Amino acid sequence: MNRRKFIILTGVGATSAGVLSACRHPEEKLIPALIPDDEYVPGVDYWKASTCGMCDAGCGIIVRTREHRANKIEGNPLHPVNRGALCARGQAGLQLLYNPDRIRGPMRRTGERGAGEFEEITWDEAIKSLVDKLREIREQKGANTVAFATKKKDGVTGIAAEIFASAFVPSGLRMHLLAEGLDGDAESGPEIYNRFVTPIFDIANATYLISFGARFLETWHSPVRYSLAYGEFRNARGKARGKFVHIEPRMSMTAANADEWLPARTGTEGLIALAMAQVIIREGLRKDATEPKFLSEPLENYAPEKIADEADIPAEKIIRIAHEFASAERPLAIGSSRPVAHGRENMTAINYLNLLLGNVNKPGGVVLPAVDDFDPLDHVSGEHRIDSLQEHLLSKEGIGDAFSALLIHQSNPVYKTPRGAEGIRKIPFIASFSSFMDETTSLADLILPDHTYLESWDISATLIDEKRVAVTVNRPIEKPELNTRQTADVLIAISREIGGADFSPAFESAEEMVRKAIEQLPGRGEETSDSIIEKGVWVGEATGKAESFKPATFQFSLLSASADSTGDYPLTLLACERAAIGVGEHSNLPLLQELPDAMTSVMWGSWVEINPKTASSLGIADGDLVEVTSSHGSVRAPAVLYPAIRPDTVALAYGQGHGAGRYAKGRGANVIELNPYLNGSLRRPDTVQVKVSKVEGEARLIRFGTMLPEHPEVKR
Ligand code: SF4
Repeated sequence: MNRRKFIILTGVGATSAGVLSACRHPEEKLIPALIPDDEYVPGVDYWKASTCGMCDAGCGIIVRTREHRANKIEGNPLHPVNRGALCARGQAGLQLLYNPDRIRGPMRRTGERGAGEFEEITWDEAIKSLVDKLREIREQKGANTVAFATKKKDGVTGIAAEIFASAFVPSGLRMHLLAEGLDGDAESGPEIYNRFVTPIFDIANATYLISFGARFLETWHSPVRYSLAYGEFRNARGKARGKFVHIEPRMSMTAANADEWLPARTGTEGLIALAMAQVIIREGLRKDATEPKFLSEPLENYAPEKIADEADIPAEKIIRIAHEFASAERPLAIGSSRPVAHGRENMTAINYLNLLLGNVNKPGGVVLPAVDDFDPLDHVSGEHRIDSLQEHLLSKEGIGDAFSALLIHQSNPVYKTPRGAEGIRKIPFIASFSSFMDETTSLADLILPDHTYLESWDISATLIDEKRVAVTVNRPIEKPELNTRQTADVLIAISREIGGADFSPAFESAEEMVRKAIEQLPGRGEETSDSIIEKGVWVGEATGKAESFKPATFQFSLLSASADSTGDYPLTLLACERAAIGVGEHSNLPLLQELPDAMTSVMWGSWVEINPKTASSLGIADGDLVEVTSSHGSVRAPAVLYPAIRPDTVALAYGQGHGAGRYAKGRGANVIELNPYLNGSLRRPDTVQVKVSKVEGEARLIRFGTMLPEHPEVKR
């Protein structure tokens, strides 16, 4: 339809013009109320299905739009992962779309690196600048001195990166793929099950659940999925209410929901699991499994009576819980590999409990999917697969000398791996595809901003039980808000330029990849692609391979697994991921900053949780400014006296201490500054030894319902 644009400036119209300019949207967004649009009826809601992009759990969403503008997100009731539910983070997606700090279009650096001086350029100029620079680097330094860094190496971005690599890197060479490191719990020590696959935990049908630090109601694996399962575990009709025991040094929201909370010493989760295993074996309660071969000393050495002091949990309590667990109809043990450096060993011990009681691939137990993975893009990707690329860590020392150019997408290593930032600063050319001016993007020479997930195409899959998979479609809910482009499409455009006349990319766009993947879904039957896109999800049988994985032959000891509380750093710091802002990707969304912490009601900043006894011995009162120091650095934040934390432990949440974003900048402290996450380690432990002292200065502590000052940041 050929639209004419006009504005009527009469009384109300003049106000409309003011609203219009305040909202910074072009006038055509209001005109359809006067000129009918073929695609919608003014004033009528349209719901479109897509995928939540606020974490990796892959929940289905439906988005309400009116006059082409998204105004509410809900869970997709057809999606088997979240069954119509959505967490607070998922609800906050609109603040990503309409965030005033989004980069509005391509930009080129004009001032010193990091000075924040950029000029707006067109997309043609941006793509030409990048292509020219890449050609120059290839000729002078070699194609393999260019690296692509992304958090999301699968999906359409992964395939587009491979298309780019095949156009840019001469055959026989590989383009380097960099990663920040691993945040999640994906591994969870699966090798003990003889398969290297992320298990599904049937919490809904368990009758006794013991969690070794797995905060499954907050951030562990798939929070909405497991929160729903927990509801069934507690309340399902026709079955007894399950018992839940949680082990963690601090009372998290998950711990607060437990029937019994065991505040064990940090790092001793695996030790307690082995003590329980020892009781189960010595008292003839086991149903399966042999003696643990992974231990470098006899299991008797882990008897509750021997490890009780180190774990700081009475032996009688461990014995009682082992009895309850072993005699339950459907017991289930879950854990988190994150808290400590020996998380993998802890997880192996925790998973051994499930083997002992024979609850693998049984209702209420650990479900190992029949295939290792299911990727709908496998069927369309041909020879282009991202696993042909090499992985490195962005935090690796010497990264600045190793590469001539870094193309960075959905990654912010300057914030997340601060000690690697110096190396990144030294890379001669950086192109960022970020939607926001974050700490890493502010160092870029060229910015080619990505769409948000609500404007993008993608496709992914989640295994929902032993045999079935939910394939979730991500499709644009509305036309792009700003002058941004999906990174996969930009990479394809660059490949076409750089590859020359002879190069023909396998796909023209992300949308084409998604449509082809849907067409080729094995077992799709008669269902049309449009119907699958409309519903946002397709559930079918998972096809693929189940690699037989050889269990690691590594042997370990968990004796003396607890943190060292002697010396200069007597306290153990537990860095926690809050359900709202996680590790800091979404700290610039005011709704999530405003969400009070479930246990302390603190919002809009950082705080150090400290036991009142410890605080008193250090002369610290509630609200005092304290300095937390490890051998790697120090940060400052107000103290919150929290009785539900061990006296030898303090806690500080991830996600604050940003240097960019009007709602995030200057708020609180970045706890990663204290963490020894540098060379060699893919996984960042959540714990480090620290000391805490009171210091002079203003402590800004905002608690829900107490003092909420006006937020100057919201004024534009
Ligand atoms: S758990 Fe929450 S943030 Fe993650 S995908 Fe689901 S709704 Fe989105």
